[in-house]
Amino acid sequence: MVPLRHFRSVAWKFDRHLSKLGSLILACQNLHMPCGKKPRFVLLYGSQKGQAQSIAEGVAEVAEEHGLDAELSCLDANAKYNLELETAPVVFIVSTTGDGEPPDNALKFVKCIKKKNLASDHYKHLRYALLALGDTNYANFCNCGKTIERRLQELGARQFYATGYADDGVGLEVVVDPWLDGLWKAIKEALSKMNAEEAAESCPPDVQLNLLSITDHDGPQQQSSEKVPTSPASPSASPAQLAVSDLGSVPPTRSSELASLSSDAAAAPTSAAGPQKDQAELSHAEPVASLTRSLPPLSESSLNVPALPSPYLEVSLQQAETTEEIDGPLDKENLHEVPISKAVQLTSGESVKTALLLELDISAHPTITYQPGDSFNVFCPNRAAEVEDMLHRLRLYDQRNYAVNICLSKDTKKKGAQVPSHIPKNVSLLYLLTWCLEIRSVPKKAFLRALVEHTADGGQRRRLQELCSKQGAANYNAYLRDPSLGVLELLTAFPSCSPPLSLLIEHVPKLQPRPYSAASSPLRHTGKLRFVFNVVEFPACPVRPVGRRGLCTGGLFDLIGPAPAEPSGAPPLPKVHVSLRPSCTFRPPADLSVPFVMVGPGTGVAPFIGFLQQREKQRQENPRADCGETWLFFGCRHRDGDFLFREELEGFVSSGALGHLEVCFSRDAAATAAAPEDVGPEAACRYVQHALQRRGRAVTDVLLRRNGRIYVCGDARNMAKDVNDALVETIRAELQVDQLEAMKTLAALREEKRYLQDVWA
Ligand code: FAD
Repeated sequence: MVPLRHFRSVAWKFDRHLSKLGSLILACQNLHMPCGKKPRFVLLYGSQKGQAQSIAEGVAEVAEEHGLDAELSCLDANAKYNLELETAPVVFIVSTTGDGEPPDNALKFVKCIKKKNLASDHYKHLRYALLALGDTNYANFCNCGKTIERRLQELGARQFYATGYADDGVGLEVVVDPWLDGLWKAIKEALSKMNAEEAAESCPPDVQLNLLSITDHDGPQQQSSEKVPTSPASPSASPAQLAVSDLGSVPPTRSSELASLSSDAAAAPTSAAGPQKDQAELSHAEPVASLTRSLPPLSESSLNVPALPSPYLEVSLQQAETTEEIDGPLDKENLHEVPISKAVQLTSGESVKTALLLELDISAHPTITYQPGDSFNVFCPNRAAEVEDMLHRLRLYDQRNYAVNICLSKDTKKKGAQVPSHIPKNVSLLYLLTWCLEIRSVPKKAFLRALVEHTADGGQRRRLQELCSKQGAANYNAYLRDPSLGVLELLTAFPSCSPPLSLLIEHVPKLQPRPYSAASSPLRHTGKLRFVFNVVEFPACPVRPVGRRGLCTGGLFDLIGPAPAEPSGAPPLPKVHVSLRPSCTFRPPADLSVPFVMVGPGTGVAPFIGFLQQREKQRQENPRADCGETWLFFGCRHRDGDFLFREELEGFVSSGALGHLEVCFSRDAAATAAAPEDVGPEAACRYVQHALQRRGRAVTDVLLRRNGRIYVCGDARNMAKDVNDALVETIRAELQVDQLEAMKTLAALREEKRYLQDVWA
């Protein structure tokens, strides 16, 4: 530790350099000073669904244990930080949303740093580290993080710790955990270096400063995570323990515990990439891992669990007559409640997903103006039955109509604690669970860690610890992440866990609207907005004995079921809450002569129906217009089961709005007989990427010789990547270049906004 008198003598010698003294004092703030101040760093997050925010909050929470003071802010709270004058290291944690866009609360910041008039040394003084969150299922992986990083560097900022790119497609923790582990040392080293630089700049040449190097020896030596030894009370039974229980000779407490866990103990999810063995290989007596039970080595391992998040909310329920009777989502400003004027099932048969077309009557809402390519949000509440189950599970059913009062705990240690902005004032508990919290969300590890403190049974505590531990990462993926296990399902499986309502409000994220692409053109359907969706099915599995439907698609499916007739005899039109999310780029070319290719298998065809309706209308209005060539690549399982919009598409071909319609049927005999790599002119193609390759010459002609565009819409998990690969291969073959060159050509098309994607997982 550098003695205080040392700094005093430095200050004395700097008497004549008062202007520089200010910066020295700032530098001192960044050292572990005897005056009790901890070295500070700035922690900024941009978060759409709360993941980046909760990681940043976790960092802020444990900073003190590392002898540091984190100044946490959301990126859009620019009154709280000032990068232009910042002398401490800055840590950014940012996610990416949509097609590579910044989260809403980082938009302003990104816009600001992108300004062209900023000098190349604007952030010369800044030292930063960045953790980018993204999903490789989507185009432009971690694009927001990459954009911020690129701009910081262009403006002279220097990185003090390698950037982490975490992929939600495989599990954020794979990158996040080690990145966080190394962060503390990196911040301390950065502080040391920055202070050395600062002092060197501030010191007259004759002053020698013994610079302080802050190492891990400074400050309390605590881990950001706790170590949990193996618990003897664990139900994470070893084979021997289970064999005994099967014979019924366990003590009564254990046997009731095992009985309560029995619903999912019999089998593990077969699709899960967890550590369990294939069931078929297991003998009767052999125990199987499950959501509530682990096997060695995990059950015998000591665990590194996340630090316990500090509680920060005080919640009380008040019997209040005055609670406003509100229905529907709160954001009335941007939301419109519109009737469903038409519902059509587009698919038939058992072997295909159920696809529905809904038409909304927006004629009474002149502010809803959209164009083909736009998407819009549908707000669906949580299902009434699940809300009711949750109320019972929390033992709060009788208080469901009470007003929820929320305020910050006075003694919270949580940095930057705030009442979540999505929790409105003066609403009932029933409203809160119905419209504000995503109660289907998969509990995050920090939440599991917090639940441990409210779990009475030792075995269940141990299992929750395992599921949030480093050692239990594969179990977390297998039993929570992969099957999309919701909060209620988790609480049902752990009956001795009784979290307070405040914990749920602290950890369960905001209920999100679901976006859908417009499947119509207002030129064709004036006052109407159509969309198409597949009803998402979560089949039954060991962690979920009864299957369920997706929240929004299941809700819409129920909404359009047979409705009770009104007294007049006519059934009332069901209504939904929607808001627009206009797209700036995913639009058909304004110039009719520009040729383009559309790739949209399944419901991915939705925006192209809008494109083609618009084009057909424009052609009718301008019969002499020079119209570029158009291609649509569509794919489905069966010609007779799920060929969505078949008649309408064939009609576009007849009218000339669509030049070429290429359709693949992945499960029809002709296609399944053809090898996927056989994409010769006669072969039946199985998937759109095969058809694209087969028409490679025409596609490259549109894109590379006639300055055309390609649009891809639909499934991000497989299709978008396969189509991308097929395009690389096609360009490689057609231009006779190597793969790298082909990839560069495609990247250039993307850059020029001539290769556009609208994909979702
Ligand atoms: P949720 O309850 O939210 O569940 C869906 C989640 O569960 C997803 O994470 C999914 O990966 C996962 N999941 C799905 N099936 C299973 C399963 N069997 N087991 C485990 N997990 C599973 N969708 C359309 O159908 N048509 C569109 O035009 C359309 N346009 C979109 C445009 C944009 C810009 C975006 C971002 C998305 C679009 N989507 C579209 C997707 C849509 O927003 C919803 O995500 C989708 O309809 C599912 O919503 P849900 O509430 O029913 O499902």
